Amino acid sequence: MEDCIFCKIINKQIPSQIVYEDDEIIAFKDIEPVAPVHVLVVPKKHIASVLEISEEDKILIGKIYTVIQKLAIELGIDKDGFRVVTNCGENAGQTVKHIHFHLLGGKKLALTM
Ligand code: AMP
Ligand code: ZN
Repeated sequence: MEDCIFCKIINKQIPSQIVYEDDEIIAFKDIEPVAPVHVLVVPKKHIASVLEISEEDKILIGKIYTVIQKLAIELGIDKDGFRVVTNCGENAGQTVKHIHFHLLGGKKLALTM
């Protein structure tokens, strides 16, 4: 996707602080962190949102959670706890239309709704 900022990060057209990468998934530090640990876990396949996940993506979405688990341990937030957030659409404030999973931790997280 030409105008997608996360596709550009995946293709290394723009820099990011990558903390994990394999053939299908990349994870990098959020540019505007809202917690001491704030990483975005992103499939390399351009899927616009939760609404665009298809049958063939089932295994990929499962793998995302395996990466999240590994990163939570590596980044030292597994014991105290963490949050995984995926915004979808206008009301949730989704700004980047390439599905991503915010991994947040390192402090007591408030529930802001
Ligand atoms: P969302 O609002 O759920 O769509 O989240 C998009 C997230 O992407 C925000 O937390 C932004 O701070 C983050 N973001 C946008 N551009 C970049 C970038 N170039 N590198 C890292 N994170 C980014
Ligand atoms: Zn994309």
